Amino acid sequence: MKYNRTYNFSAGPATMPEEVLEEIRDEMMNYRGSGMCVMEMSHRSKVYQQIIDEAEQDLRDLMGIPDNYKVLFLQGGATLQFSMIPMNLMKNGKAVYIETGAWSKKAIAEAKKVGEVIVAASSKDKNYTYIPDCSDLDIPEDTDYVYICENETIHGVTWNKLPNTKGHVLVSDQSSMFLSKPCNVSDYGVIYGGVQKNIGPAGLAIVIIREDLIRDDLTDLPVYLQYKIHADNGSMYNTPNCWAIYVCGKVFKYLKKIGGLEAMERINIEKAKVFYDFLDQSKLFKGTVVPEDRSLMNIPFVTGDPDLDAEVIAYTKKAGFENLKGHKSVGGLRASVYNAMPIDGVIALVDCLKKFEAEH
Ligand SMILES: *Cc1c(COP(=O)(O)O)cnc(C)c1O
Repeated sequence: MKYNRTYNFSAGPATMPEEVLEEIRDEMMNYRGSGMCVMEMSHRSKVYQQIIDEAEQDLRDLMGIPDNYKVLFLQGGATLQFSMIPMNLMKNGKAVYIETGAWSKKAIAEAKKVGEVIVAASSKDKNYTYIPDCSDLDIPEDTDYVYICENETIHGVTWNKLPNTKGHVLVSDQSSMFLSKPCNVSDYGVIYGGVQKNIGPAGLAIVIIREDLIRDDLTDLPVYLQYKIHADNGSMYNTPNCWAIYVCGKVFKYLKKIGGLEAMERINIEKAKVFYDFLDQSKLFKGTVVPEDRSLMNIPFVTGDPDLDAEVIAYTKKAGFENLKGHKSVGGLRASVYNAMPIDGVIALVDCLKKFEAEH
């Protein structure tokens, strides 16, 4: 392998497209004749304005974001959005949340500090291994929004069919599936995510928000927590995460070049199939999620014996595969196979696990 890099199955920060890293390397000392690195630039400069404008436009092109949605580049990760969403969107002080795993649980805990949270469906009964039926939820009329985590990074479940919100605004945490497949933005009021799973460096969240949800009557909120402030200032009320925005912009261009989100989805389906097909025929390993709701991005699996799991992790590490330890709340192993993980990496990992199985 070029550069002697490892196959990195980390859940985040995660592997990046090599081509993008090379481009960044080439622009490191002198960005396109500016005489400086993007890290060293004023965010108020013309050259940087072009970087952020292009990043936004490329994201709009990729996802087909309608004109009545704002794109915000914010700091504080996805976690700050757990608070900003209820603070900005709870007009009536009431929201419906669907509990499908660790990340929706965290969002619920934060929203409860702001208003009334109705958990209308949960998969807690089976340790979050499936997506509950949300075709006919009990949603009070004055609910401000319905919240989902569209891909649970830790538990490895994903929504293949969005909940029936009965006309209410849908808010989705797409952190670990951002740009992994086409997305019909108009189905949502807010889509957001931290970028360090599937797009770029940590420390940046992207929020795609329908304009009519941005309120101007929230002047009592700390300014930094108001969507309006960020929207009115083109995500530059203060110094944004310039570097992360620059790198994300590169990834957007890379995705456009390889054929956009349709092409990316085809590749992701193919990659995940290699892994799930292996799990389904294995006598030693098994996936923890029901087949219908399996994530294309995060694949938790176990042997059923924690000691043997630990042995597998050591074995794969020795063979050059990093970060396969499952999250402590699920145990076992987890392979995160985000956009930038090449299919060769997945095939090589499966071969390694097959070898382990044959030896045990
Ligand atoms: C990682 C993750 C978060 C938290 O992201 P931070 O950027 O670390 O705050 C939230 N939601 C999901 C689904 C995640 O995968």
